[in-house]
Amino acid sequence: MTTPPHDGEAVTPPAAESADAGRRDATGPKRRGPLAHNPDLDHLRIPPSDKCWWCGSKADTQEHRFKHSSLRRVAAGKGPTNVFKVSNDYSGTLKSISKGVQVKWPKNLCANCNGSRSQPFDYAYDEFEAFLFDNGSWLGGRSSLDWTEVFGEDWKVGAANLARYFGKQLGCMLAAQNLLVPAELVQFLDGSQNCPSIGFSMARNWRGVSADRVMRRHDRGGEGLMNFIGLLPAPAYTTEGRFSGIDYGCHIGYVWMVATWRAESQQRAWFEQRELSLPLFNGSVREKLRWLPRLAGMEYKHAREKVASLTKLLPGKFKR
Ligand SMILES: [Zn+2]
Repeated sequence: MTTPPHDGEAVTPPAAESADAGRRDATGPKRRGPLAHNPDLDHLRIPPSDKCWWCGSKADTQEHRFKHSSLRRVAAGKGPTNVFKVSNDYSGTLKSISKGVQVKWPKNLCANCNGSRSQPFDYAYDEFEAFLFDNGSWLGGRSSLDWTEVFGEDWKVGAANLARYFGKQLGCMLAAQNLLVPAELVQFLDGSQNCPSIGFSMARNWRGVSADRVMRRHDRGGEGLMNFIGLLPAPAYTTEGRFSGIDYGCHIGYVWMVATWRAESQQRAWFEQRELSLPLFNGSVREKLRWLPRLAGMEYKHAREKVASLTKLLPGKFKR
């Protein structure tokens, strides 16, 4: 990860959420979710507004926190009950993938900004996501990627618009929290070439890579972990009492996409060079050893399911 060190203090507890295919039992108490306001941030908030944070017109639309097409892909034609979501305030299958607080940010964009103005960003995201789905079986072993493999010769525009897609998500998250959206982010979405105070980086999560391999070994032709999408914890930072930084991150399978805003900083962005670095996160020997029991558990679960499906095929007298 290229997340820069912050010189302030983290003031929010982790607020992460994830959605994946499958149905499980809802468990766990209700806790503070990503849309709930943490009192620790109250002194940093700006007055609530009904204006679009991007252009200032009346805000009358809600952006999806997880792209609608991604949720449709996870649902695999079986509707919202095939999408399982875990977050700080929710654990269970979804009631809808089209609307509601579990899949959308609050109303903080106008229809034009949420529609035609950001359509190129959506297209770039769709292209990148399709690339991940098509190439997930080998990408886990690669420490870098050539952007032309994703966007062709027009990679500079594609990679920058992909950053703008996540920049828009970051803006919606900040507006949802009544936190000021950095002017530089707005200029970047308006078409500015760079956004130095926000670092855009990607990484491979080793835990995800290893889980993906187990899943693909047991389900040949399957999509591995790529149907597991989610948001990463989003801590905010202050410097001398001023709001000075926040992290936004999400993952598609084992690939993490992270945008880190640090006021008045100069950071690298993934669209600056053709070669995209994909460092391995959680991949130290100690981390791997700590994760082994979970992997062994996954192997055991898959093996047990296989035995169960085989015994169903046997004549009755051999059934257990
Ligand atoms: Zn607008």
